[in-house]
Amino acid sequence: MTANLLDFDLEGLAAFCAELGEKRFRATQLFRWIHQKGARDFGQMTDLAKSLREKLEGNARIEGLPLISQHESADGTIKWLFDVGDGNAVESVFIPEEDRGTLCISSQAGCAVGCRFCSTGHQGFSRNLATGEITAQLWFAEHFLREHLKTGSDRVISNVVMMGMGEPLQNYAALVPALKTMLDDHGYGLSRRRVTVSTSGVVPMIDRLSEDCPVALAVSLHAPKDELRDKLVPLNRKYPIAELLDACNRYLVHAPRDFITFEYCMLDGVNDLPELARELAHLLQRGVSCKLNLIPFNPFPASGLVRSPQQRVQAFAKILSDAGIVTTVRKTRGDDIDAACGQLAGDVQDRTRVDRRIAQQRTVMLKAVPADSTKEA
Ligand code: SAH
Ligand code: SF4
Repeated sequence: MTANLLDFDLEGLAAFCAELGEKRFRATQLFRWIHQKGARDFGQMTDLAKSLREKLEGNARIEGLPLISQHESADGTIKWLFDVGDGNAVESVFIPEEDRGTLCISSQAGCAVGCRFCSTGHQGFSRNLATGEITAQLWFAEHFLREHLKTGSDRVISNVVMMGMGEPLQNYAALVPALKTMLDDHGYGLSRRRVTVSTSGVVPMIDRLSEDCPVALAVSLHAPKDELRDKLVPLNRKYPIAELLDACNRYLVHAPRDFITFEYCMLDGVNDLPELARELAHLLQRGVSCKLNLIPFNPFPASGLVRSPQQRVQAFAKILSDAGIVTTVRKTRGDDIDAACGQLAGDVQDRTRVDRRIAQQRTVMLKAVPADSTKEA
């Protein structure tokens, strides 16, 4: 079995090259060919000696994920669904904005945390993605977009958020090399501040991430008190809110940003009442340097939950803002293509539907995103 080179960060690739009797600078060249130029086969790597290319042919491969479907929203959001075998699929979403291009990436097929409002959670856990399967999402999207948008920019994706399917901190060993490839100057060269790991609150792994690869951290809070959070995010029974906030404060010592982003999915009549907004304000004022991101719930039938009315979201946001907490309400993007966490992949558990989707796949007419999407925010 040959090694998939997408599985390696630069250190890993250097070790692999050393096994083949090759010097480190060869690993750097190879890494740049793969990640900066999007090379798919060794024949393209014209500045590598023919003997080395032959050696690589025999021992290695560059293997992305098979694409099942691609959908583009009227607002420019693009969603890809990838086949990860055994009837499982994962998704990535590209969200173009004026000053940035954000890619949302998956870390697992399914998820074991089982949050009530999450369609990935409702599917249960299938398996962890390998590093190469996490990295392949960025590798594919970056080079696909460069080719199709023809922006003249040498980088389309400026931000990565680990907010697709799965709990990244429950797939820690595979996650860290993928993050390192994103940050590496010879890889995607993304700023630590522009790579965000989102977690439902795996406390020990928040501590490890702060040591191994501190990037921006988002924590999915969804409730100001344990009684309610226990029901929405079952992991809270293991790592309750007070422990989670302590971990956030420890993380901030190493973090590239001086705040944690808390995510709060707004569920009608469940966690969106004014008294809960006041409790949340109280908790966060005492607790952690943070920003709060209110997310309109993306409904799916099996959840039995409903999106909070806009007025209630605004009233909730006002209570928090008035209390001095920087609060934003997330814009819904790609609504017409179900581009929210786990929505499309939720559908494809049933393989007949996968086949139908492939049959329905339409030609995607890509719209241009601004050329300069790599500017610092
Ligand atoms: N497992 C990680 C990252 C993936 S989920 C986590 O939970 O943070 C990414 C974000 O999408 C989380 O904040 C999650 O709460 C949110 N989310 C999940 N299902 C949603 C839905 N149906 N509508 C809106 N947001 C949702
Ligand atoms: Fe898993 Fe995150 Fe969905 Fe919860 S919200 S089930 S942690 S993917």
